[in-house]
Order: sequence, then structure tokens, then C-alpha cells
Amino acid sequence: MNLRSMAIFTSRTIGEKLLEKPLMDWEAAVLYGLNPLCPPTILESLVLLDIPYWDSGREVRTGQLVIHRDLVAEVIFLFDLMLKLEFPIAMMRPVSDPIFFLDGRPSDALLMSKNNTSGFHYRNIAGSTRLSWHAYGRAVDINPLWNPCVTASGIEPSEGRYDTSIPGTFFENHPVVQAFLDAGWIWGGKWKQIQDYHHFEKPLQQTPF
Ligand SMILES: [Zn+2]
Repeated sequence: MNLRSMAIFTSRTIGEKLLEKPLMDWEAAVLYGLNPLCPPTILESLVLLDIPYWDSGREVRTGQLVIHRDLVAEVIFLFDLMLKLEFPIAMMRPVSDPIFFLDGRPSDALLMSKNNTSGFHYRNIAGSTRLSWHAYGRAVDINPLWNPCVTASGIEPSEGRYDTSIPGTFFENHPVVQAFLDAGWIWGGKWKQIQDYHHFEKPLQQTPF
């Protein structure tokens, strides 16, 4: 079995799985458009998952998520919970899909404005020179347009709107948020300075290097 790539099927989705477009293999999902500064030790730790999700048109589709291998079981559990709860996810494609590119690299602004759910993205924290936990495959953004980042200076993406009555939006005590917290993840919606409602991360005590 190829450990770098896993297909996840639940009993209810076998036979009703819809493909948005041909799914990517590991090389395309991880390497295409990748920042050349990304070290091989990170690449070796990444797994590509095929994940069934409930889309906003109320159909089950197959998305793909790149994540750190240590988080595979938790991520499968959490997305399976979203499927069971019929929590809608707008789109789930690796950041290496060229529809998210600006100047040949994945653009976080485009990922957010297209409402894409994704994991691994070798980049710094916005407005910082520190690597994001996305760069280690230890963070997931879910429905960023419906769960925008709210800062003192405004909302990102700018066309986003935080309205908890919209399905697919997170809020305090939401069962999906609670499940992430129970699994030891941090939710950006609880931060003090900014509220990054789409962001979940599972940091280590220290950055690996
Ligand atoms: Zn994030």
C-alpha cells in the first residue's frame, strides 16, 4: 500500500461518491507550485487523503486534503463527523490546484475567496515571518468565506461575512468545533486579537526545526 496516499470511504458514501474532477496523485497535490524552500523532512511527513464531504448542493463529493501523517486518524474522524452531521463544505482541493495560483504559487487570498477547505500549505503566518502550522500539515482551514478571519482592520477575505445562520459556519459550542477541541486542536475563532473562524491547528510544543 502506498502510505502517502489514502482513500477514505464510509459505508454510506460507497456508490454515491461524486468526483468533481480527476483526483490528484500525491506528487501533484504536494509538489506542484510548491515553494522550493520547503524542506524534504516536511514533504516526507505528508499524506494525501481522499475525503467524502457533504457539499452545499446537498450531495456527497470527494475532496482531497494534504495533512501530517500523525494527524490522519483524527482528521478522518473529524471529517466523518462533518459528513454525518451533513455539515456543508464548499470545496476541498489541495492548494496546488492552479485555480488558487497567483504568480505561480498558491495564494491564501484566493484559497479564502474561493471558500476552499485545505490543510498543508508551505507559507508563513499572514503578516509574519514565522511559518504557519499549515506549513507542517498541522492546520486545516474549513469554508474560509463562510468563516472569515475577523481582525481590527476588517475581514479577510474582504467579500466574506460572518453569519452563524449560514450552514457551514462555525461558532462557539458548534459540535464540530467542540470535536476539534476535544481532540486537542486549537480553534482560531477563540483567539483574542483576531478571530480566525476557519482555522484549526494542532501544534507541537516546538516547531520541528
Ligand atoms: Zn489557517
